[in-house]
Amino acid sequence: MADSHAMGTHQRRATRQIRVGSVAVGGGAPISVQSMTTTKTADVEGTLQQIYALAAAGCDIVRCTCNEQEAAEGLAAIVPRSPIPIVADIHHQYKMALAALEAGVHGLRLNPGNIRKPEHIKAVASESRDRGVPIRIGVNGGSLDPSLYEKHGGLTAEAMVESAMQELAYFDEVGFDQVKISVKASNVPLMVDAYRMMSEATDVPLHLGVTEAGPLPGGLVKATAGIATLLLEGIGDTIRYSLTADPVEEARAGRLLLESLGLRERKNVDLIACPSCGRAEIDVIDVANRAQEAFADREIPLQIAVMGCVVNGPGEAREADLGIAAGNKRGHLFVKGRNVAVVPESEMVEALVDWATYINEHGVEAALARVDTALAEREAARDRNALLAEKGDDANDAGTKIAEIRRKVASPGGDARD
Ligand code: SF4
Repeated sequence: MADSHAMGTHQRRATRQIRVGSVAVGGGAPISVQSMTTTKTADVEGTLQQIYALAAAGCDIVRCTCNEQEAAEGLAAIVPRSPIPIVADIHHQYKMALAALEAGVHGLRLNPGNIRKPEHIKAVASESRDRGVPIRIGVNGGSLDPSLYEKHGGLTAEAMVESAMQELAYFDEVGFDQVKISVKASNVPLMVDAYRMMSEATDVPLHLGVTEAGPLPGGLVKATAGIATLLLEGIGDTIRYSLTADPVEEARAGRLLLESLGLRERKNVDLIACPSCGRAEIDVIDVANRAQEAFADREIPLQIAVMGCVVNGPGEAREADLGIAAGNKRGHLFVKGRNVAVVPESEMVEALVDWATYINEHGVEAALARVDTALAEREAARDRNALLAEKGDDANDAGTKIAEIRRKVASPGGDARD
């Protein structure tokens, strides 16, 4: 596509490529979305159910904790049945890493802050090297090696980068290079600095995240602030939203962020809606929410608009593939800015789904050819004019307000120069 902004082809930092099971990470591969299960890993059926829900929401790689022997045994049963690659999350016990490798996981995450013995780190790296399984060096601001914390006088970007580089050096010693790195912190500017520094220091692919971002909506804002800033600088090869919410929300958020930055192809509907204003003829929030729900499970990669009024709606959403605007208790459907049909207000969402399905299957031209656009445009003009006549060309009712302002200014004691 010619428009580099639309497709997000702005310069990305060159990184080397590794493979997490079937998913390539780095080296120009599509940026992948990750999430983590919240079930006990020993609960094989419950964990698989969550993994399937995550995959359906756009998750490419999933992480499960491997904190005890039962979890490792669970992984042995989960791995062959999972639709996406599995990464085992390891803290404190290097033996759990060896057990996860035995279970057949596609990747490991090691926290260098709490597995610190060089011989343990090298034992895991050697085993991973022999099995061709990649490791993420997952530095976390909250669990940094205490000696680095002391050396740097607290939690700094330099301290986090040094932690990752130390671990890389151990890996090097045993000839292991299937690595990605994360330097997450819950403080967004700190995390952004650490990743910038990391990306200068190495060409290892980077896994982006703001750790412990928290519940919605604050968590979404924090994570997006950090991850999007870096992605727009060309930094980052795979991402995870760490939200205190159903992990499906993490996968959705990750997917949506990449789509909105033009870094992944759109999979589902991109629903746009006006913010509503005094002109709105419908409850825009309600209709937009119902439309969002109706399209949730349909893989229709179109941009669809819900607009509150037919006066400004079709014009403002001219670029959308399909849209609907309310007017005079009717819904005016438009395709690429051209009116195509009028439906009762109660059938607006249904009509959107019908038209979207048709366009997705047959294309815009076929959709336009099957209707009398001139007739639909006349109907829209009629409702538009009726609305304008009723509300005037100013939804703010400026005439009344101006008269009131003048009355106040002219009243005794109302000298405007005071
Ligand atoms: S489309 Fe109509 S209702 Fe929605 S914000 Fe614009 S003017 Fe207001």
